[in-house]
Amino acid sequence: MVAKKKDIRALTKEQLRDFFQDQGDKAFRGNQVYEWLWQKSAHSFDAMTNISKDTRQKLEANFVINHIKVDQLQKSSDGTIKNAVRLHDGLVVESVLIPAKDRTTACVSSQVGCSLDCKFCATARLKKMRNLNPDEIYDQVVAINNESELYFNRPLSNIVFMGMGEPLMNYNNVLKAIDKITSPEGLGMSPKRIIVSTSGVPKMIRKLADQGVKFKLAVSLHSAIEEVRTSIMPFNATFNLKDLRDSLIYWYSKTKSRITYEYVVWEGINDSEKDINALVAFCKFAPSKVNLIEYNPIDDSNFKQASNAAVNNYVETLERNGIVVTVRRSRGKDIDAACGQLANKSL
Ligand code: SAH
Repeated sequence: MVAKKKDIRALTKEQLRDFFQDQGDKAFRGNQVYEWLWQKSAHSFDAMTNISKDTRQKLEANFVINHIKVDQLQKSSDGTIKNAVRLHDGLVVESVLIPAKDRTTACVSSQVGCSLDCKFCATARLKKMRNLNPDEIYDQVVAINNESELYFNRPLSNIVFMGMGEPLMNYNNVLKAIDKITSPEGLGMSPKRIIVSTSGVPKMIRKLADQGVKFKLAVSLHSAIEEVRTSIMPFNATFNLKDLRDSLIYWYSKTKSRITYEYVVWEGINDSEKDINALVAFCKFAPSKVNLIEYNPIDDSNFKQASNAAVNNYVETLERNGIVVTVRRSRGKDIDAACGQLANKSL
């Protein structure tokens, strides 16, 4: 049986240096190859032009580069671009480039499918197939950065982990990917321009706080009333609001970083005074702001975007209570690239 080749990008720089030394070559080659893999994003050993042919063949014989492949690129009439990203085992995830006047944002996936069961989200219907590894997350960002240069003549400026999956249920790999994204040996981006969005896994939020991470945290709240939240986000029965609240207070005490709550207002679900007042009370536990996001229909008649009057009621009450609130318009809806619409529909 032929031994399975190893994914070269699972190796640290030191391990690569060791490989070359073991082969009787200079350890320095390890640094050169590492640079090709990470700073120059090489997809093949042949692309490594300052490495001798012999050495490249040696690498070829021992390793593979499991690079992602953008299988399909769709453009929205508003400039948003959606990538269908093929992984080495054939599975597909999606990532989105969102251009704005002053920034370009990448929205990346952290899992294939999702293990959570939010009733209003198309990704939930796919179920979770597997976690992405750090390289597969990093590659999505690199692909979008290249597209940003190509189509908008500027590098990527922001990253949000709001694609497929629950980032805090793939904790180690997401953190490793962010390390690479922020490292000078990777993309050298500032962690302040990265937002990790979670449905709220209290234990993991505490762990992030303990690790002193420098990126920002967003929580998909959608309701600050236990029964309502459990009815639309059933995992709330396990990770309930009370634990979430305590973990967020802890997060702020450790990081001093304000939390963003993502919130959709639906008719008949969370559009009453009681719902608004519960959100106001929840926002007072730790410094926070609220993003009211537009509902992107996923053909389920139980969910309908609330009226403008109901949304305005939220805005006015929050503002009256000194809470910062923004109303977000959807982007990329015509190509199913908006929040909650990522479900590999076009493949
Ligand atoms: N699992 C993480 C990351 C995915 S998030 C999280 O829950 O935060 C993408 C964001 O889109 C979340 O805020 C989610 O609640 C929201 N969302 C999901 N389905 C949506 C829909 N149909 N319309 C609008 N927003 C939706």
